[in-house]
Amino acid sequence: MDFQLSEELSAMQDLARDFAEKEIAPIVEEDEKHHRFRPEIVRKMGDLGFFGVVMPEEWGGTNQGLLASVIMTEEIARVSASYGLPFNMQTIGPGLTILKFGTQEQKQKYLPGLISGELFGCFAITEPNSGSDVASMKTTATEEDDCFVLNGQKMWISNADVADVGLVYAHTDRSKGAKGMSCFVVDLKNTPGITAVPIEGKVGLWCAPAGEIIFEDARIPKSAMLGEKGEGFKICMWQLDNTRMSCATRAVGVGRACIEASVKYANERTQFGQPIADFQMIQDQIAQMSVEIDAARLLVRRAAWNRDQGARNTLEVSMAKYFAAEAANNAAGNAMKIHGSYGYSSEYPVERYFRDAKSFQVVEGTSNIQKIIIAGYALGKRK
Ligand SMILES: Cc1cc2nc3c(=O)[nH]c(=O)nc-3n(C[C@H](O)[C@H](O)[C@H](O)COP(=O)(O)OP(=O)(O)OC[C@H]3O[C@@H](n4cnc5c(N)ncnc54)[C@H](O)[C@@H]3O)c2cc1C
Repeated sequence: MDFQLSEELSAMQDLARDFAEKEIAPIVEEDEKHHRFRPEIVRKMGDLGFFGVVMPEEWGGTNQGLLASVIMTEEIARVSASYGLPFNMQTIGPGLTILKFGTQEQKQKYLPGLISGELFGCFAITEPNSGSDVASMKTTATEEDDCFVLNGQKMWISNADVADVGLVYAHTDRSKGAKGMSCFVVDLKNTPGITAVPIEGKVGLWCAPAGEIIFEDARIPKSAMLGEKGEGFKICMWQLDNTRMSCATRAVGVGRACIEASVKYANERTQFGQPIADFQMIQDQIAQMSVEIDAARLLVRRAAWNRDQGARNTLEVSMAKYFAAEAANNAAGNAMKIHGSYGYSSEYPVERYFRDAKSFQVVEGTSNIQKIIIAGYALGKRK
């Protein structure tokens, strides 16, 4: 038994589970094979209020908090990690960041559309030569009389080629390092000089678009700046506390799918005249998966609850993200072993879980980066 969820949270969980089973499960296997993204699924999630749970009513949300969001995301990711991602691309990433740092005009322009799914969002931090070392990014935003001019290349951006609006991080003053970074809310579809190119050949998340975004003398209005000039690094770290949490809950969803598939298979498959579930070594694997995924879920929910109480939760988020990513990969590895050669075939979904789980150790800061943050707190170097 889980910690008792309130009636409201249980209802949100049921809603997301039903949606995942009715709308995503029937098409996911075929779509994954064809790398097909269905924008209408994201819009339906928006219509049902999935993205609005973290947003105030004033902008079209229901203000139920991050705990509600992670509970719902887990249900979607259990069926499809690809369709767990839109939570991050809509309101957990761009939406919450605009809510916190944006002007009234920026909020009016973007929040209702991100909540409803009418607008698709993204955030663009990573570049070909800048990943973990965010401040080493090369993209620049040069100030002119009436605008900023963006030049540079972003890489591995989820939603790159479908996003209408993106948070774009760039240097306004490279000489100041991290303190010279700024953040912009960019209209990606209507700005000359912006090109998005999909990335082919991703290992997993085949229903989730990702790509490069290239800026060549892209002129954006001064009003596109989010927060103050030079606040970009701070905004980026604030955003990552939220998007990392959402990533961690997707990992829990995939881990749960691994356990469910393994339990079913272990009860059905017989060898040596008995179900393989009766072998202690299989039970050992299932016990490990069960404990690790349960522990990961508790870490994620604690991090979300902390944020809902208004507390800073960088440490709790890094713990949740690190542990959940590793637990999902352990669970996927065990699930493949339990399925024997069938685990190595596309006939069973565990190969998809295995491929999708790898992303969690990389995106939103690698497992090494999470450990650096956790150790920093443990050693008293961060407060
Ligand atoms: C499917 C997918 C979707 C993504 N979506 C987005 C997105 O929407 N927006 C976005 O901006 N980015 C996105 N990314 C990029 C992702 O956030 C980066 O890949 C990630 O931050 C790691 O950067 P990197 O790949 O350049 O690895 P690097 O930083 O080059 O790291 C390479 C290796 O070195 C290790 N390493 C680096 N520094 C240290 C250190 N100080 N100590 C110890 N080890 C270290 C890392 O842990 C890793 O193992 C996405 C990536 C993927 C795969």
